[in-house]
Amino acid sequence: MTNPRRLESYVCGRWTPGSGQGQTLRDAATGEPVAVIDSAGLDFAAVLAHGREAAGPKLRAMTFHERASMLKALGLALMAQKEEFYAESLHTGATRADGWVDIEGGIGTMLTYASKGRRELPNARILTDGEVEPLSRDTSFSAQHILTPLQGVAVHINAFNFPIWGMLEKIAPTLLAGMPCVVKPASQTAYLTELMVRRIVGTGILPEGALQLICGSVGDLLDHVTEQDAVTFTGSAATGRKLRTHPAVIANSVRFTMEADSLNAAILGPDAVAGTPEFDLFVREVAREMTVKAGQKCTAIRRVIVPRGQIDALVAALDERLAGTAVGLPGDEGTRMGALASLDQRDEVRARIRDLQAAAEIVAGDPDDVRLTSGDAGQGAFMNPVLLHAAKPFEAAAVHEVEAFGPVSTVMPYDDLDEAVVLAQMGRGSLVSSVFTDDPKVAEEVVLGVAPFHGRVLIGNRASAKSSTGHGSPLAPLVHGGPGRAGGGEEMGGIRGVKHYMQRTAVQGTPRLLSAVTGRWIEGAEAQQGVHPFRKSLAELQIGDQLVTATRTITREDVEHFAHFTGDTFYAHMDEASAKANPFFDDRVAHGYLIASFAAGLFVEPNPGPVLANYGVDNLRFLTPVYFGDTLQVRLTCKEINPRENAGHGEVRWDCRVTNQKDEVVAQYDVLTMVAKEWPLPEA
Ligand code: NDP
Repeated sequence: MTNPRRLESYVCGRWTPGSGQGQTLRDAATGEPVAVIDSAGLDFAAVLAHGREAAGPKLRAMTFHERASMLKALGLALMAQKEEFYAESLHTGATRADGWVDIEGGIGTMLTYASKGRRELPNARILTDGEVEPLSRDTSFSAQHILTPLQGVAVHINAFNFPIWGMLEKIAPTLLAGMPCVVKPASQTAYLTELMVRRIVGTGILPEGALQLICGSVGDLLDHVTEQDAVTFTGSAATGRKLRTHPAVIANSVRFTMEADSLNAAILGPDAVAGTPEFDLFVREVAREMTVKAGQKCTAIRRVIVPRGQIDALVAALDERLAGTAVGLPGDEGTRMGALASLDQRDEVRARIRDLQAAAEIVAGDPDDVRLTSGDAGQGAFMNPVLLHAAKPFEAAAVHEVEAFGPVSTVMPYDDLDEAVVLAQMGRGSLVSSVFTDDPKVAEEVVLGVAPFHGRVLIGNRASAKSSTGHGSPLAPLVHGGPGRAGGGEEMGGIRGVKHYMQRTAVQGTPRLLSAVTGRWIEGAEAQQGVHPFRKSLAELQIGDQLVTATRTITREDVEHFAHFTGDTFYAHMDEASAKANPFFDDRVAHGYLIASFAAGLFVEPNPGPVLANYGVDNLRFLTPVYFGDTLQVRLTCKEINPRENAGHGEVRWDCRVTNQKDEVVAQYDVLTMVAKEWPLPEA
């Protein structure tokens, strides 16, 4: 008999064993003891205080780009050790393919956040949210929404099914926001999370206290959460409700994000009859969702909503496919589906199938008779896929309420698309649903009908058959969460997920002082003129450095030359009578792009210098028509500077305002450039 590993918690800078007897955790497939878990004796108030005091200030002192680089280094270090995680993952009952979702899916999510942090966030410590709101006519009083990291700790309480992804998808946006984390994995599979946290701590990449781990019960931890902390929870609705209504959570209005049971649906479109590519894709997707991770996926398809006339064909096709799913030891090459997380979990799934049988009959698989290609059904939590059929789905309350968290789905008929939509809605809020159709009208009707009840909707058809990421894969750039019984929470969604750990504040004041707060020049703030700002490297350039150019008068010849040169002979530039008939113009007007081009001609500094490239413009607006004889002038102001980590340059955003002789703004936009950190460029 193997000697089970005694798990430790990583708290207050030390690996700490529990002081009690502990609970033995068993291999899902063999029943062998793997680990002993226990958190008795931990001082949970001290854990929260350590995160807040030791790590919070260090994380907040870093910029988004520094935190993103930290996540990248960590992700790469973990990826290099992935085989160790795969080996440990087998104990959870997961096959290599299941492990890929958890391990490489989790590390990939962290790396996506690292990349998004560098590409989509400024190299700064606060975020601005939206545009400046001018609050006075003379620009002496304005407002800007900003986001700053919460100064507490994010407590992440996770489910047993994704011991790695569940941790990494939450800590990546949290750390990017600048907030320390305490992770509490579900006990059943905590040994895999513990192993990864050991490796994370071993890299020394995170500031001490940025990640703490509790293996075992969280004891009285929630009694100590404050208004600056956040709690996220993934697991059963019952536990979620209990934690959400914890007195300290309520008293301190602690941000609480919950992801609980979800009766995700897949709808077969009326056009997707047997013989179409969509029908075949649907069969493959339902079977895959039932069997990946042995159906222990929060996004798995639980309800299969099918045109009445296609039920028989679908059940036959699914039966054939599921019968061919080899169930056995997760490490065996031939195994397609491994074990459930534990024998208790299998008992739980069998009990839930009995609940479902009140409203549906089993049409494929037998929950009690296990057919294996390897392993021992008495020792391992094996189970074959079970398909049910609810002939009267509007009367079958259980199929819309009971989540059997295993390889279990229920097929049900609909007569018209409205019915299909209502059936999907009867899940009362789900993480994801999908519709398989090649008909644009079906796609529109289903998506509009089900979207308010879902965090994500996937449309499957022949054109995306190869590229689709599938119904069940939450992706870092996309929202993961759902309303109602799915918990009402939202995770990931790219940078949206980072903002969950930050406070949005409207700051009002005079532009000079607002600009000092945000590190961004805004209209009305002071500006300084002198050397042409394009002659300044990042070492010299400052927010508010400004150039007011010479003027240029637009002539009819300019406009006609531009029109013929570019081919843009739109009537408003060329035909006086038609231009005058246009409600927006009094006469022929200059091209907007001519104005932008002349503006560049006015502000550019032509000699080789620190400005390396112009990579675009943002928010370009032509605000006032420019007629022949109008005189243009440009005011270009350095608005935002983002030096890149580990590169010799950075991005500079310039406020560009083009005015006419009456001082009316004719065009307004941000010019985006790459500027060298030093000039002349250092020798390579
Ligand atoms: P639980 O709700 O029991 O556990 C989820 C997490 O909460 C675990 O980390 C658990 O720790 C922790 N927890 C439990 N009680 C408390 C408490 N009083 N205070 C603080 N933390 C607590 O769910 P399970 O993981 O056992 O799964 C049960 C069911 O939940 C599944 O069968 C399935 O139906 C559903 N589920 C849904 C998921 C989804 O995303 N939709 C994902 C996973 C499960 P510990 O393990 O130590 O008890």
